[in-house]
Amino acid sequence: MKFIFVTGGVVSSLGKGLTAAALGTLLENRGLKVAMQKFDPYLNVDPGTMSPYQHGEVYVLDDGAETDLDLGHYERFTNTKLSRLNNLTSGQVYQTVLNNEREGIYLGKTVQVIPHVTDEIKRRIWLVADQTKADVLITEIGGTTGDIEGLPFLEAIREFALEAGIGNTCFIHVTYVPFIKAAGELKTKPTQQSVAKLREIGISPHLIAARCEKPLDKELRQKISMFCSVAQEAVIEVKDVDHSIYELPLMLQRERADELVCRVLHLETPAPKMAHWQEIIRKLIAPQHRVRIGVVGKYIGLQDAYKSVYEAIMHGGIANDCGVELVQVDAEEIEKKDGEKILQGLGGICVPGGFGERGIEGKIKAAKFARENKVPYLGLCLGMQIATIEFARNVMKLEKAHSTEFDENTPHPVIALLDAQRKVTKKGGTMRLGAQPCQLTVGSKASQLYGSFVIHERHRHRFEFNNAYRERFEKAGFTFSGMSPDGKLVEVIELKDHPFYIASQFHPEFLSKPHQPHPLFKGFIAAAHHHIHHKPI
Ligand code: GLN
Repeated sequence: MKFIFVTGGVVSSLGKGLTAAALGTLLENRGLKVAMQKFDPYLNVDPGTMSPYQHGEVYVLDDGAETDLDLGHYERFTNTKLSRLNNLTSGQVYQTVLNNEREGIYLGKTVQVIPHVTDEIKRRIWLVADQTKADVLITEIGGTTGDIEGLPFLEAIREFALEAGIGNTCFIHVTYVPFIKAAGELKTKPTQQSVAKLREIGISPHLIAARCEKPLDKELRQKISMFCSVAQEAVIEVKDVDHSIYELPLMLQRERADELVCRVLHLETPAPKMAHWQEIIRKLIAPQHRVRIGVVGKYIGLQDAYKSVYEAIMHGGIANDCGVELVQVDAEEIEKKDGEKILQGLGGICVPGGFGERGIEGKIKAAKFARENKVPYLGLCLGMQIATIEFARNVMKLEKAHSTEFDENTPHPVIALLDAQRKVTKKGGTMRLGAQPCQLTVGSKASQLYGSFVIHERHRHRFEFNNAYRERFEKAGFTFSGMSPDGKLVEVIELKDHPFYIASQFHPEFLSKPHQPHPLFKGFIAAAHHHIHHKPI
């Protein structure tokens, strides 16, 4: 087995995760089995308890692990299946080491960062290697070289390279080469210093992926090569993508990144087959149709808060050869008088997941607008709860109907806490999480879209549809088209006399890939396109 470690230098937000994922795409299309893993040096056990302002989206896996959003990139760019083992935080490392200490496993020794913490990190790399039986494991180390928190991870991968043996490890350092306007030049000094820092620890990168806004000419490549002791051909230019992140694998391929990695690791494989990927890019850059989709949320200013939702909508576009213009709608803006006007002209409206009261009334208004104006609506988790509340209030005339998450004393708690949640007090990892089976009703739009009656989708919620109201909703024309197999939990709802009004308690966005667009998003964009082009003016 071969190991690739991706580190980052100079600044954060360089797209290290995307670079790692895009390399995964290329290696996979060379016929290799690829596994991916992320190390996060923070002390939280997982990002599930962090605010989107701190961390962006929390990405949920089949096994219910709440993980870093880079794992979303890994799953979207490759066919690898991830589990909770694939995202290791300092919090988990210390939790394990301290539990071991309490159990007396260290036999009277002084417990130290080296070797006990580093050994635990290495154990987790071997564990993923063992479980995945992949040809190549790509491990991304979060944070930036020089961070105190990241040191044990860098030390661990240095040691790991010795254990893995000659020719089995490849270090890639992703850095930033800033363009200094006043000088009119790209500058390599921060890269030099960052690599120096890495070498201080004992890691010499085989490859430098230089993020830059302007082309990296030969002279600059020579300079980086010389000062950083990296072969000139192994200095890779990674410019900002023009249209879409999915261009990245092709960009890396042009720079021969995958070929170089294979040479370092003595992997003999044919050149990657990327024709299908080129077709994806064609559809993104020059689609036959176009449509505008509104995403109504409260973290609209944050790029990363609805990452998987935005991506899945784009995938729905790819499936329909339809370019999507994402309109990020601030739910609080809609709450204002005549606020719904913002929604006019949209092909479709999506209300994604969320927690807390802020913006809720705006989302309810958006759902009402979509229902009344027959605009395609896709509700995701909270978006299903919102659709339920809206229908209760405005169609069934259940005044002040609400979710008990937002109003504990509502006279009509149409959304209420899951039974299993009633005694839960701890916050970390305690929601209803991960892949759960769902049975779709024969003849429902959902089952038509999925082309199947049993599906497995990922969850992350504490509240659910309140079954005490089920019959009344059904009588009023609200369809329950997906249920948990025991018939107890509502999973999908839809409206009959509407071209596309579907909402799920689960998060379909976590299972969509550019090369396998999710059926709900595919159907949503098709309906949005139809709505815009065929509605009477
Ligand atoms: N806040 C809601 C719940 O806990 C919805 C969660 C979500 O959208 N992920 O049920």
